[in-house]
Amino acid sequence: MTYDPDNIFAKILRGEIPNTTVFEDDHVLCFDDLYPQMPVHCLIIPKGEYTDLSDFSANATAEELTAFHRAIAKVVEVKGLSDDGYRAICNTKIHGGQEVPHFHMHILGGEKCPPMIVKG
Ligand code: AMP
Repeated sequence: MTYDPDNIFAKILRGEIPNTTVFEDDHVLCFDDLYPQMPVHCLIIPKGEYTDLSDFSANATAEELTAFHRAIAKVVEVKGLSDDGYRAICNTKIHGGQEVPHFHMHILGGEKCPPMIVKG
């Protein structure tokens, strides 16, 4: 998949669309999801142009990979999710239901998450 520089998260990174920032460093931006599905619903995105988890895992630098994982720990701390836990989701491509084609991880918490896959 070719990276689309007009996707909504690229616009957030360029400052063209506002966001509620939770944490930011040289490689990562974390912000509240605009349409939260849980009491806590944050998105963590790399500042680099990666389309999805597979692209990021294969092509990000060691520094970017480390920064992303450290950001998870930071968001968990800032949002007070350490004790009771949370769910991390990376919807990926069509079968994963990914809507925004800039790699992102959802961090969901604040109450018990529903079953991940509803069967039947
Ligand atoms: P996904 O379906 O995994 O691609 O998730 C995209 C997420 O981006 C959804 O949870 C949306 O609610 C969220 N979203 C879309 N536009 C914005 C925005 N402008 N600011 C924050 N979150 C957004």
